[in-house]
Amino acid sequence: MDERAFYKESETKKAANLTCPFCRGSEPYDLRWLVRTKIDRLPGNADERDRAKFSKAASYMVLLDDKVMCKNMRCRKRFDISGVKTTAFL
Ligand SMILES: [Zn+2]
Repeated sequence: MDERAFYKESETKKAANLTCPFCRGSEPYDLRWLVRTKIDRLPGNADERDRAKFSKAASYMVLLDDKVMCKNMRCRKRFDISGVKTTAFL
């Protein structure tokens, strides 16, 4: 059974402070996250191995964005998101 079957997927946005490497401006940016919420119970066709994996599974979220556009009107450059954890457990 695919591990994805253990989760319900949804999307959320969370603000993070990022510093543009070009103009050094620091602003909050809304980053998109994919939220994987663990389902309450396994589907009926799960076997012993699935149950073991399921018991260790936990809800988490993964950062979807990898770049943002600088909010500084005079800069407007795209830069890589760094310094933000790309996975987080809920
Ligand atoms: Zn900038």
